[in-house]
Amino acid sequence: MKLIENMRKQALEELALAGDAGGLEKWRIHYLGKKGPVQGLMKELKSLPKEDKPVFGQLVNKLKNELKEAHGVAKERLGAAPKSGGDEDLTLPGIPPLIGTRHPITQMMEQMISCMKSLGFEVAEGPEVEDEFHNFNALNIPENHPARSEADNFYLSDNQLLRSQTSTVQIRVMENRKPPLRIIAPGRVYRPDSVDASHHYMFHQIEGLAVDKGLTMQDMKSTLIQFFAGLFGEDLEIRLRPNFFPFTEPSAEVDVACPFCKGKGCSTCQQKGWIEMGGCGMVDPNVFKAVGYDPDVYTGFAFGLGIERMAMRRFGIPDIRYLTENDVRFLSQFPG
Ligand SMILES: [Zn+2]
Repeated sequence: MKLIENMRKQALEELALAGDAGGLEKWRIHYLGKKGPVQGLMKELKSLPKEDKPVFGQLVNKLKNELKEAHGVAKERLGAAPKSGGDEDLTLPGIPPLIGTRHPITQMMEQMISCMKSLGFEVAEGPEVEDEFHNFNALNIPENHPARSEADNFYLSDNQLLRSQTSTVQIRVMENRKPPLRIIAPGRVYRPDSVDASHHYMFHQIEGLAVDKGLTMQDMKSTLIQFFAGLFGEDLEIRLRPNFFPFTEPSAEVDVACPFCKGKGCSTCQQKGWIEMGGCGMVDPNVFKAVGYDPDVYTGFAFGLGIERMAMRRFGIPDIRYLTENDVRFLSQFPG
């Protein structure tokens, strides 16, 4: 009886391992065939006492039936699973593999970088955790300026904060290099705004800076015109509206003629015909002094543009929150 039980155990274990029709058939031939070990058990009959022979014969037959049944169940289960070989209709269309896409912010950023690179600017980077010197002092933002308030910044300690603008990178580059230089600094910035359809506490800016002898506002304006022409694929009028920023003098807001309605007015530009792009201006002499450049020798211009704002207009995204939710149904709408 022990012999029969061991055989039963071994046969069922091997059956469980037979993963396809071939394996199953091999198992059937081995265990249920005439020359197999189950049939071989019958040879043991000879060595048994006469009175035990009928019981032993019955037990072997019972085992055979049990194994046949188990084989039937296993075969059925295999048949229910997808078949592998022979029966497929190869003319049916396949399932296309899902291919990832770049985030719309990344796409926008890469387009802006490529436009600026073609104008001779190179990419620079800086840390997102900044100190007050690079975020404020060196940018001519005095001690008691409201822009430094705790309500408007994410302070990590007395002297450390998440940078509130990418202008910090200008300072870091100028500290380490001599003019002439032309850089752009794309990256994340942080401000404790309450989140709604058009505001977020984390967003992206791209900062441009050029420093050389004899640069004027005319150079800045022509750089911006060429930048937007590269970005939107056509020459668009721009306008500069006087403004104030501590780190530039004079300072201006830059608007570009709406590329969608050509200035006639549409829903994208809120019927204004112009789209606000960001701030710009000539680098304030105090900023040059903070990094050790001689403001009597060098001049420069700088501009900062919001990447979310541009991507939302470019792609027709109505809510800034979509950009950080990482919903694949949203992201897959921007192939590229
Ligand atoms: Zn428009």
